[in-house]
Amino acid sequence: MEELRKIYNAGVVGAGGAGFPTHKKLSTRVEYFIINGAECEPLLQTDKHIMREKADELMLGIEKAAGLVQADRIVFALKKKYSDETYHLKKAAEKLNMNMEFFFMDSIYPAGDEQILVFEVTGRTVPPGGIPMQVGAVVSNVGTLLNIYYAMEDKPVIRKYVSVLGEVNDPVILDVPIGISVRECISAAGGSKLDSFHVILGGPVMGKIIAAEEIDKRGITKTDGGIIVVPSDHHLIRKNALSLRHMINQTRSACIQCSYCTDMCPRYLIGHPLRPHKIMRKIGYSEEIDESFIDSLICCECGICELYACPMGISPRLVNVYVKKKLREKGIRFQDNGSGIKDLSLREHRKIPAARMFSRIDMNKYDVKRPLELKRVDTDTVSISLKQHIGKAASPLVNAGDRVYAGQLIASVDFEDVGANIHGSIDGTVMKIDDFIIIQKTSNGVMPC
Ligand code: SF4
Ligand code: SF4
Repeated sequence: MEELRKIYNAGVVGAGGAGFPTHKKLSTRVEYFIINGAECEPLLQTDKHIMREKADELMLGIEKAAGLVQADRIVFALKKKYSDETYHLKKAAEKLNMNMEFFFMDSIYPAGDEQILVFEVTGRTVPPGGIPMQVGAVVSNVGTLLNIYYAMEDKPVIRKYVSVLGEVNDPVILDVPIGISVRECISAAGGSKLDSFHVILGGPVMGKIIAAEEIDKRGITKTDGGIIVVPSDHHLIRKNALSLRHMINQTRSACIQCSYCTDMCPRYLIGHPLRPHKIMRKIGYSEEIDESFIDSLICCECGICELYACPMGISPRLVNVYVKKKLREKGIRFQDNGSGIKDLSLREHRKIPAARMFSRIDMNKYDVKRPLELKRVDTDTVSISLKQHIGKAASPLVNAGDRVYAGQLIASVDFEDVGANIHGSIDGTVMKIDDFIIIQKTSNGVMPC
């Protein structure tokens, strides 16, 4: 199909999550096409900006994507409090006479998690370890849908909106070329207020933590939506730095098996057989990771168990991260034993207000209430990863010394493969190729041929 080809050509991937290649996601017929405007990590304003300022383009992207999956129902899910965004979206939908429903959610955490969103909208539980398609739904983030709109105009994904927040002088949303360094993004937000800082790439809980020394090397990818600068002694940084030995000792000496971590786990509450308190009990007895830990594989790492629920300051999420890694190394895959809870009404009383979650982790102070301004930033050097998506890394199509232009295909995957094409994001010369393609601007510029 021509439209899927265009999406593949443009290298569109899920912009808000792990980067699943979009041409693969939109290749099956489903009942529900759900637009994820719920922004899981509330400090970030990237999606809200798109919903307000790019509503017309977004709606055209939605129309195209929903048409591809031949959805019976198109549902735009966003938070009740996003009144301004709703106004712009409704206006844009009316212009196209679109048959679209709006689903307004409470400000709960983690509202934007794909499986939680599907449950909220459809009342259906995605099978543990499964994907929404198995219950007749496809979920797309607003950033992805905007990129679909551009793909229809044959414009590849070469730029990205990124919210830069936290301990910076001027919190801002940046429009940057893919591959620009995190340091340049922080500088464009007025620089860090602190000498000693760490950076959270993504949202405060599920984002990846990097040290200040790494910010020159780390380039922005198609899936990065936020940069949060925090003090190096911030609670989240100290928590993530704990050694496995410390965590296990802590579990042995302090876990009282109260099961609050399980009672509040959002995956457990939609019926998945994930019981973090049992995982903690097991690891307290034996550090040998085997199939009895298999339920760890369905943890989404939302952090509710350790940052909100546990009264003893123990770390079920980090233990799960470790256990998942070990299970994958051993090639152990998840298998559902059907032991998830059946009474899903419990969930209604155990939803976690996002504001309370973020105040617990000392992040509310970084919540900028006003809409952030957009600033376009360009650069002389980009470091573009060949694997910014789930699946196969893209294979380079250029060599060191080649001149390339912004928008040129520089690495590709086959249409049939799970993977995504990669394009140059600035005009320049290819300096180096390994897992990244480094492009540097040349003084005399490079014109497309
Ligand atoms: S991080 Fe904790 S609360 Fe979240 S899904 Fe995993 S076990 Fe459940
Ligand atoms: S909430 Fe904390 S103390 Fe209670 S069972 Fe879970 S890890 Fe143990």
